[in-house]
Amino acid sequence: MRNYIYMDNAATTKMNKVAFEAMIPYLAKYYGNPSSVYMLGDISSKVLNEARETFADCLNCSPEEIYFTSGGSEADNWALESAVRNYGRGGIGRNINGRNLGHIVTSSMEHHAILNKCKELENRGFMVTYVNPGRDGIVRTEDIHRAIRTNTILISVMTANNEVGTLQNISDIGKIAKRHGILFHTDAVQAFGHIPIDVKKWNVDMLSISGHKFGGPKGIGVLFVSKDTKLTPMIYGGKQENGMRAGTENVAAIKGMSVAAGEACKTMRKRGIETVRVRDYMIDNILRYVPGARLNGHRDLRLPNNINISIDGVNGESMVIMADNYGVCISTGSACSSKSTKPSHVLISMGVPEKECFESVRLTISEETTYEDAEYVINLIRKLVKEIKTHTLA
Ligand SMILES: *Cc1c(COP(=O)(O)O)cnc(C)c1O
Repeated sequence: MRNYIYMDNAATTKMNKVAFEAMIPYLAKYYGNPSSVYMLGDISSKVLNEARETFADCLNCSPEEIYFTSGGSEADNWALESAVRNYGRGGIGRNINGRNLGHIVTSSMEHHAILNKCKELENRGFMVTYVNPGRDGIVRTEDIHRAIRTNTILISVMTANNEVGTLQNISDIGKIAKRHGILFHTDAVQAFGHIPIDVKKWNVDMLSISGHKFGGPKGIGVLFVSKDTKLTPMIYGGKQENGMRAGTENVAAIKGMSVAAGEACKTMRKRGIETVRVRDYMIDNILRYVPGARLNGHRDLRLPNNINISIDGVNGESMVIMADNYGVCISTGSACSSKSTKPSHVLISMGVPEKECFESVRLTISEETTYEDAEYVINLIRKLVKEIKTHTLA
């Protein structure tokens, strides 16, 4: 494959080299089942214990509060399902004559793993309020507060958005949830390994993580569940994950993910400062040199690696396809919506006019992005904008 510049780290990340190498022995040599009593099994179960400790350190919780899942989507689904089963009325939530079985407050800019699960819960008789963020892509804590009803059982608001990178006021929302005795979940898939997280300080009861968004492998993730929170099994079967998620653990992936987590947490501060510099260089220069370019999402309260811009009169999808011809990987928004022609639900939720929602491109850089890469991409965007505009006028 030719050389390319990868600026789509919100979709997935390259595996951390140390993490990748740490996985291999657990595929090739130490293949024991963690549940087996002999030494080979012990070696595998030790991986699980150590991994739980790594995540506990990164999140400020205890290792028993860490559950391994198949990724962020499963963690999100599990958190919501468990909340309604344990805290909603009517057990599994049968919809009896449209009876209201409990109410959930979330935001309209969540990932589809939350939004589509919420739709499913609505079909089963639960009520959901989708709070819109402001034009800056930040959900107002007062709006969350105002959405609370007497039968609200759960608040779920993402820590950082995957399209515009905006950071939410999780600790403020956590305070409100705690004051009202309402369960609080946050999808921290984009945030983990990129910004500091403290579940205690934030009053978070459940939190979702995905391995492949911070240098770990795909198909593995974590759900943090505080010990005071009731949990319903995700998969029934063996005793794995404290009897809450049956199935032989993906030992190698858990190893890879936990090493990546350790590396990410260790280098977060330094990496953040460096990435922010390149991010700001790109934002400033795109806004300066690309006519009709506007930044989507708050200028500063955003992930260190996120740049999301709309360019007047330039179709985002065309830009992404043309950039690919130059070996530049960018996106129009979330990977799930980039194959459809619907406008981004995130930009719509922020009140961005529909026309501008089709004109957006997302660039998510990494610590490996150099100023040279940045310069190349800025110039490429300038060139492509000219081409697209000429073409559109012709
Ligand atoms: C990627 C992502 C998910 C889904 O994680 P998977 O491991 O791919 O299932 C959920 N939420 C957010 C915010 C994401 O960015």
